[in-house]
Amino acid sequence: MVKKSLVCLALCTLAFASCKRNKKPVAAPEPTPKPAPARPAATPPPKAAFQVDQTSRVIVFCYHQIVNSIVRPDTELTPVEFEDQMKKLKEAGITVIPMQDFLAWRRGEKNIPAKSAIITLDDGWKSQYEVGWPILKKYGYPFTLFIYTEGIKGGKYGGGKALSWEQLGEMRDAGVDIQSHTRTHQDLRGKIIKNKDILAEIQSIGYEAWLNKEVKEPKEKLEQRLGIKTTAFAVPFGYCNEHIREVVMKDGYEALFTVNPEVINFTTPMNVLGRYAIESKKPQTFARAISFPGSASSSFASATASASSLSTQPADGTTISDTKPLIKADISSLGEVDPSSITMRVSGIGLVPAKYNAALKTVTYQTIKKLENGQYSVILSAKYGGLKKETHWSFTVDSNAKPGAAKPGAAKPAAKVPDDVVGS
Ligand SMILES: [Zn+2]
Repeated sequence: MVKKSLVCLALCTLAFASCKRNKKPVAAPEPTPKPAPARPAATPPPKAAFQVDQTSRVIVFCYHQIVNSIVRPDTELTPVEFEDQMKKLKEAGITVIPMQDFLAWRRGEKNIPAKSAIITLDDGWKSQYEVGWPILKKYGYPFTLFIYTEGIKGGKYGGGKALSWEQLGEMRDAGVDIQSHTRTHQDLRGKIIKNKDILAEIQSIGYEAWLNKEVKEPKEKLEQRLGIKTTAFAVPFGYCNEHIREVVMKDGYEALFTVNPEVINFTTPMNVLGRYAIESKKPQTFARAISFPGSASSSFASATASASSLSTQPADGTTISDTKPLIKADISSLGEVDPSSITMRVSGIGLVPAKYNAALKTVTYQTIKKLENGQYSVILSAKYGGLKKETHWSFTVDSNAKPGAAKPGAAKPAAKVPDDVVGS
């Protein structure tokens, strides 16, 4: 069991939100001047300070390709599936808000609806322009594109399925929010990189310089080419750590998104904002997101970020070869737990029948069905001294990993090539 920091899953986070700032100005008639006040204005009463409503909750969706024939169900959705989800958001009374409204809310500048959603589309696929956008327009939903600049058409990795700068410009003019998703879409930890050119570059300029380039260059390029401001960053594949978070937030971003599914509240740390990555083969992810899990308790907001560390197995961020792992957390450091309140969720499975050992203060779940290779998030929720706390961690299953790979910091490359690379 390894001591692991909790909650900090920064996964591939893209958020697409429409940005009013970028909308083409609409010719509006000059407002009729109001008649002057009848009496001289006395000292105006002091304006009441704006009170932001901190009780709103936000879910962020991460989509990739929207195509008729699904080749990669882990990142693709058919137009019918996509539209069905857009419709369900409306039916569920969830308001799709622009990314910029969310950021303003978190700055304490404006309110957002109690149940809000942000739609983000990752990687800059042409199908987002051709298929996704018309559907989003039909519902009047704002959205955000998370773009990696070398994946734009004409870039080093921008193939025939990639968006072009011209298309990005057109979307910007229509109010689509465009944010950063690195330069070349690699594992920013530098661990799972197979591309020889990238490896050579890291060798030549050093990891730190390379990381800085991946974080800074897309911001500068998107801002310069499109005349916009980018302040949100999505981490490719959700691979992240504390150092990457620091670099990103130091380089002028105000929000870092991952793909750790979670409901965001007013106190969720801005450098680890989770998203629900939607896949064709896992419709339950969407269903779970729109149920706003875990947000019913009023103490949820302050509690999510408070649990700072606990021992987990598999340890956070590690890669294991065991496809039926024992999932375990030592919660002794979190306070007096109410055993009846304990729930454990595993991404791709859902709620699991975890057992609590009162003597050892551990929560365990033995996986029964073999886990496919890929990344898994565990969400452990319980009431401690009456206060609900939610703890997140993640691990990767790679059946080809050599035994011993579960050592933190020594994660082996996942067997599967990461999912969301444009223009393969
Ligand atoms: Zn991506």
